[in-house]
Amino acid sequence: MTGSVPLLRPELAALSPYNAGLTPAAVASRSGVTRVAKLGSNENPAGPAPEVITAVCEAAGRIGAYPDPEGRDLIAALAAFYGFDPQHFILGNGSEDLLAVLARAVLRPGDEVVTLFPSFPLHEDYAQAMGAKVTRIGLTAAGEIDLPALLAAVSRPVRLVLFANPMNPAGLWLDADGLRSVLAAGHPDSITCLDEAYHEYASAPGDGPDYASGAPWLATHPGPLVILRTFSKAWGLAGLRIGYAMTNSADLKRGFDLARTPFNTNLLAQVAARSALDHTASMHQAVSLAVQERDRMAKTLRYWGCGFWPRAAIFSLSIAGGLLVRSLNRCWIRVSS
Ligand SMILES: *Cc1c(COP(=O)(O)O)cnc(C)c1O
Repeated sequence: MTGSVPLLRPELAALSPYNAGLTPAAVASRSGVTRVAKLGSNENPAGPAPEVITAVCEAAGRIGAYPDPEGRDLIAALAAFYGFDPQHFILGNGSEDLLAVLARAVLRPGDEVVTLFPSFPLHEDYAQAMGAKVTRIGLTAAGEIDLPALLAAVSRPVRLVLFANPMNPAGLWLDADGLRSVLAAGHPDSITCLDEAYHEYASAPGDGPDYASGAPWLATHPGPLVILRTFSKAWGLAGLRIGYAMTNSADLKRGFDLARTPFNTNLLAQVAARSALDHTASMHQAVSLAVQERDRMAKTLRYWGCGFWPRAAIFSLSIAGGLLVRSLNRCWIRVSS
């Protein structure tokens, strides 16, 4: 029965559910193939280091208890790993959780969010769910980030500037000068959030030659800055759901803590991420394998005469395929390497 009052908030009614693509089992049952390569979600097929799995198994006996709501052990390990103050960190049930928490904490109906396009759909969806308006900065005709348009947009008093660097799915990134100019042009009242889900790939030796993380700016940027990272990609922990934010703003840190659920990261995820930071060799191996495979795939796609986006992080954008890949805007596909 439908009442005269819509059940859902209009902001939600306008959204579509997140499209996570097909599972290998669904593809196998549809097509009758037995071996399916899942290259649509940018996961690390090798998973985490074996020591991480051992740590998770050992911790399984403790799952009757609630996890530490502050995730203190993991935050202390992250702070030591990156050389930052633990005060800067907030944990999330994946970085997508932190995107939702940030939107809940800071966005009001009518606020403007500036983002790059094409990009991660959740950057827009969570903003729209809060009633914010999204301004997309598209790529130039040459397929590059439109820096002048981005600089013009961020110099206005927009509420939030939020984009992925490197961009997913375009695989493009801002170099240090580009990032510096965006941060310098930012309006002092704006919050800037850089989603660095592919940081580990772009910062690998020999790859993403001029990629620059926003993390060093946490010490100097005058406005509120948030950097999002995840254990889902290079660290191989997508199934456990764990990511983190770093911010230079004590007010934002408090906002994240108020807007998140108290136990938003589970006990096993905290243990796994903590252990992963002690066993980085598997992560580095996964990154170099992805880079190698991406380059091999690029050669093959070129051989087939497929259009191909030349600069990429872990994934490649192409206009053809026969693997379980992610279709984007009906004419491009994104392939994880
Ligand atoms: C995969 C991805 C995420 C989500 O990561 P989780 O930590 O698994 O939630 C966030 N942002 C971008 C750009 C991604 O590609």
